[in-house]
Amino acid sequence: MTILDGKKVSNEILEDLKIKFASLDKKAGFAIIWVGNNEASGIYVKNKLKKCEKLGIEGKLYHLEENTKEEEVLELIDKLNNDDSVNGILIQSPLPRHINEVNCFNHVNYKKDVDGFSNISAGNLTLGNPSLISCTPKGIMYLFDYYHLDLEGKNVCLINRSNIVGKPLFNLLIKKNATVTMCHSKTSNLEDFTKKADIVISAVGKPKFITSEMIKDGAIVIDVGISRENGKVIGDVDSEVFEKASYITPVPGGVGPMTIAMIFSNLYEAITKYQNK
Ligand code: NAP
Repeated sequence: MTILDGKKVSNEILEDLKIKFASLDKKAGFAIIWVGNNEASGIYVKNKLKKCEKLGIEGKLYHLEENTKEEEVLELIDKLNNDDSVNGILIQSPLPRHINEVNCFNHVNYKKDVDGFSNISAGNLTLGNPSLISCTPKGIMYLFDYYHLDLEGKNVCLINRSNIVGKPLFNLLIKKNATVTMCHSKTSNLEDFTKKADIVISAVGKPKFITSEMIKDGAIVIDVGISRENGKVIGDVDSEVFEKASYITPVPGGVGPMTIAMIFSNLYEAITKYQNK
């Protein structure tokens, strides 16, 4: 069994990006909008700002109060869309319940949409046009490529249908000629699908959700799920699966670091492909 080492691969990507950002005419600007005081979000925001510093990027935090109105968030996004010193805009999810997250994601100009969540970015991906791609799916595809795992003709069981993971990933997988079965909470007899799959991708968020009985020998297993148990971060996949899989992503150290690396890869792409700077 081979570990798909997202930590190592993401470090390589970030080292390469550091050189690329340094070669630009001016310092890249990355704006993060954080509304409220969600503790986990605070950690994610801090980590992203630290990464900005390491990469020689100007990280700008816009921390708004929990009771901020949606219109005010949209106004801030407008301002950042029109600010030439800002090359990428990230809205830290989750937003407080009274704010429509989809409206906010969609308000980001697609040229600065480092998350790839706007309708234009998602639509272009679906139609097979160039776009900034949602970071977790993009990171997973990068791992397949890095480890020379050919997807053509493979049966993939993808357990997730969310806008940020399942749907973009489905499109990327079919583009690589995989045959994808998209499963979700209403799927009957999930095991029938996982057992037949050459590749199982689980993004459910339930510890030990994927057990070794659900996997065929030699399957490739991608664990996207994140849960917390006694302060520890754990994925969806039970530890026994490691003995049966041919390739597998650990949690932590698998898909998570790839997602972060892809945010900055998208920032570089936003500047060089969409903003012509
Ligand atoms: P989400 O919108 O809640 O999606 C969860 C998916 O799992 C849904 O499609 C849901 O089906 C499905 N599901 C739930 N219970 C199921 C069951 N018993 N059988 C089959 N499917 C089931 O969450 P998300 O934002 O996509 O994230 C999914 C997980 O990935 C979370 O743990 C999140 O923390 C993690 N994540 C990790 C990264 C990373 O970088 N590692 C990035 C993003 C997300 P329905 O659609 O029917 O509800």
